[in-house]
Amino acid sequence: MSDLRELYQQVIIDHGRRPRNFSAMETANHIKDGHNPLCGDKITLYLLTHNGIIESVSFQGAGCAISMASASLMTEIIKGKTIAEAENLFAHFHALLTQPSLAQNDKLGKLTVLAGVAEFPARVKCATLAWHTLLAALQQNPELVSTEKKEA
Ligand code: ZN
Repeated sequence: MSDLRELYQQVIIDHGRRPRNFSAMETANHIKDGHNPLCGDKITLYLLTHNGIIESVSFQGAGCAISMASASLMTEIIKGKTIAEAENLFAHFHALLTQPSLAQNDKLGKLTVLAGVAEFPARVKCATLAWHTLLAALQQNPELVSTEKKEA
């Protein structure tokens, strides 16, 4: 195991055990539940947006270390960003996990610690649950978010 990979593992374990911004938010103007039935990960995401900017974000939930670490890292990175910037970050993050050769890691900051998930396709949904929930919250999608969408 390379030193870099070990460092990444430590960041994931740290965020998985002690997630940042792990609380309910009374002042939230978007609240959304997300569920990854394949792994059993569940989160509730709280957002306070104003004039297109994510002013505050927090979450609660339970799940595997990757889902919790990913949600924790997401709350750190999207706070203060515009909604468009957050959506753009997710596009880059999704590429990191599914098409790593095309990913622009320089745009991803700390999220690159999750790059190793690309080697485990079944875990990609753990890493993207928080982001799917974020997009649904911002789009005011009334349905429960599930990573297992029924085909239309
Ligand atoms: Zn999981």
